[in-house]
Amino acid sequence: MAAKPRILIVGAGPCGMTAALELTRRGFTARIIDKEPGPTPLSKAVGISPRSLEILEPTGVTERLLAKGVRMQAVQARYEDQLLATIRLSRIPHRFNFLLSLPQSETETVMEDVLRDLGVAVEWNAELTDIRLAGVKVEAELSGAKGGTFDYVYAADGAHSRVREILGLGFTGYTHKRTWSIADAAIPDWPFPEATAMAVLHRNGDMGFIIPIGPKRFRAVSNTPDALGHIPGTASAQVSQSDTFHIPVRQADRYQAGGVFLGGDAAHVHSPIGARGMNLGIEDAHAFAARLTGKTLDGYTAERHPIGHRWIVLSERLLAGVQSANPLLIPFRNLAIRTIGRLPALQKPMMERIAGLRE
Ligand SMILES: Cc1cc2nc3c(=O)[nH]c(=O)nc-3n(C[C@H](O)[C@H](O)[C@H](O)COP(=O)(O)OP(=O)(O)OC[C@H]3O[C@@H](n4cnc5c(N)ncnc54)[C@H](O)[C@@H]3O)c2cc1C
Repeated sequence: MAAKPRILIVGAGPCGMTAALELTRRGFTARIIDKEPGPTPLSKAVGISPRSLEILEPTGVTERLLAKGVRMQAVQARYEDQLLATIRLSRIPHRFNFLLSLPQSETETVMEDVLRDLGVAVEWNAELTDIRLAGVKVEAELSGAKGGTFDYVYAADGAHSRVREILGLGFTGYTHKRTWSIADAAIPDWPFPEATAMAVLHRNGDMGFIIPIGPKRFRAVSNTPDALGHIPGTASAQVSQSDTFHIPVRQADRYQAGGVFLGGDAAHVHSPIGARGMNLGIEDAHAFAARLTGKTLDGYTAERHPIGHRWIVLSERLLAGVQSANPLLIPFRNLAIRTIGRLPALQKPMMERIAGLRE
């Protein structure tokens, strides 16, 4: 019988933890390290797709996420003070016919708890400092833990991936100039329907999104420095976390170098519109584990790179559409949103993409 491969997962974000969960479930033994002392304390990605819930279900993660998250039922699109459309997520053709809204800090904590129950301890405070391809093996140096030689390394070490950088894998793209902001807030007097996200577009191209993340708790995102400033009904907001950021749009040229494979933000980054960032990473990790099991790892880039690329192209189009300030285009865009809102058949392709059911 062939010896079990030695596997190192670098990064215990949602992508790395999914890789550890999936590999463990399939009978592999993997080490998982992270340079930080524990799961992120930040709420970061808040939308978990039906496909991610499906992937995480066999390990028991999904059941625990469902017990904690908000089942988002609808998305409203508004232009200034007009309601353009209400898109009902209950039309997603899946038994999980909603987007589950939960701060990433809680998602990661659930994943770590389940891993621990499965006998896998995340090695926190352990940083990858160097990596070398050595024939068919991979040598990894760590600080804070013992390094060694591995058959496979799964690099889920985020947008600034050290692994990608050391191996010289290109990360081609650009960064948008606009300063974006996010804020988590309690809004006791929220006047709109519950379990409903809202996108508010303005004639000057500014916009705001708001997503429920708990009872009277919300995540606001804006393409301006004031996350809540473009959303009606937020006068009573009490902000608990806020930050600003710029949107990078980049993709690794290859997702594989020898026995090293990239997944999640290490492989692709794009705008948060459509809530695909974390979900694509969960799908990458699932594909890696399935391909390792099926001994088809060499097809990993060919499978995952085009999927990442298609989403980057689509999310850039969506971004250009929602932040258009062109007075000639806005009436057509708004008419398109109204029409899509009236005709469920037109909503299906985009809904399936956001749900992770169509690539
Ligand atoms: C402020 C903010 C808001 C966001 N909002 C959204 C959103 O609304 N929707 C959405 O879909 N996405 C959002 N994202 C993006 C989302 O958080 C990422 O897509 C997701 O975290 C990617 O998961 P990952 O596991 O690939 O990488 P990460 O979550 O970045 O995890 C990488 C891990 O690797 C570890 N690491 C890095 N280098 C090393 C090393 N050398 N050795 C050991 N460990 C290492 C890090 O400590 C980290 O824990 C947001 C991100 C930010 C920062």
